[in-house]
Amino acid sequence: MATLYIHIPFCKRICSYCDFYKVGAISHIPQVVEMLHREMEERANYVSNRHLTSIYFGGGTPSLINPKEIEGLISHADKLFDCSAVEEITIEANPDDLTKEYVSSLASTPVNRVSLGIQSFDDEALRFMNRRHTSTEAIDGVRRLRNAGFRNISLDIIFGIAGFGDRVLKHSIEQLIALNPEHISAYHLIVEEQTRLGIMTRRGEYTPIDDLLSEQEYLMVHHMLTEAGYEHYEVSNYSKAGFRARHNSSYWQGVEYLGLGPGAHSFSTDNRTWCTSTVKEYATGVFKYEDEHLTQRDHLNEYVMTSLRCCEGIDLATIEQRFGSHERQRILRCAQSWLDSGALLLADNHLFIPTPKMLISDAIIETLFE
Ligand code: SF4
Repeated sequence: MATLYIHIPFCKRICSYCDFYKVGAISHIPQVVEMLHREMEERANYVSNRHLTSIYFGGGTPSLINPKEIEGLISHADKLFDCSAVEEITIEANPDDLTKEYVSSLASTPVNRVSLGIQSFDDEALRFMNRRHTSTEAIDGVRRLRNAGFRNISLDIIFGIAGFGDRVLKHSIEQLIALNPEHISAYHLIVEEQTRLGIMTRRGEYTPIDDLLSEQEYLMVHHMLTEAGYEHYEVSNYSKAGFRARHNSSYWQGVEYLGLGPGAHSFSTDNRTWCTSTVKEYATGVFKYEDEHLTQRDHLNEYVMTSLRCCEGIDLATIEQRFGSHERQRILRCAQSWLDSGALLLADNHLFIPTPKMLISDAIIETLFE
């Protein structure tokens, strides 16, 4: 089994915090879509078998390409792969792209899940992040998707924005819950060096919030969403029963994936590959890649990292079976000080991070790496 990821690396406006690979040159879209078809043909054999379980259009801004082009790529995948087990086809979208026409056209394609980058329901916070939509457009976008029949909607929200305290965040979460999405991703605002926010921080125009406030906001999001009936199943992800993100969950479970498009990553057995072509190169059919060989140690560390970010945690029986009993013992040794402090818990042969400590998951995970 494998999943297919298609990267649409275009954005009309660059958000102040974003360091993903994307460009503003939307005039290249038609050529890039044509080349995605070609790359799909050339690389279909990258995964060990051609059985797909999900397809994901990510970005960038996939809603900048029209639904006919999306449908064309899906039907091409259907010819090259066995898609009989595909249950989830997701497109990421920006709220202001979701016009009535766009949504009704999208509803006629096989796409059955839409992930909307809402980020906040406060217009000032949206301006601060240089988002190109307003809170009203976000609400209208979700309503249009519902009216068009979409029954699996995911909404993204950002917390931890300095200068926009509890009241703004609480309002955003209330609004989010009122829209009743099946899935919610909640991310802490991170200052990346090569972004506008990074520049503002260096100039002293922005000061990130401190750890205590980060934890308070994280817990506020957690409490409000879990009380509203969402399961907190991964450090940044919440869902209603039966609506965990299948595509992303596959990454965390080590399922193979083929990524297409400039900047996209792929993973198969002992190999990880990423496309290093610029959009300009890619648009003219120049596909360049770099790759790395994955050792047993890489697999072990990957398993530790992804499983500890999920609520189920590390299955120590899996560690023993895949990597040997010495690894189980080593991990338990490394985990002892976290277990003593309560930052890790051990139950049913699983090692997991309790919710209040999820914010420091990276620090915990690092100490358990081989
Ligand atoms: S729309 Fe998404 S990918 Fe584009 S700049 Fe904003 S956060 Fe980054």
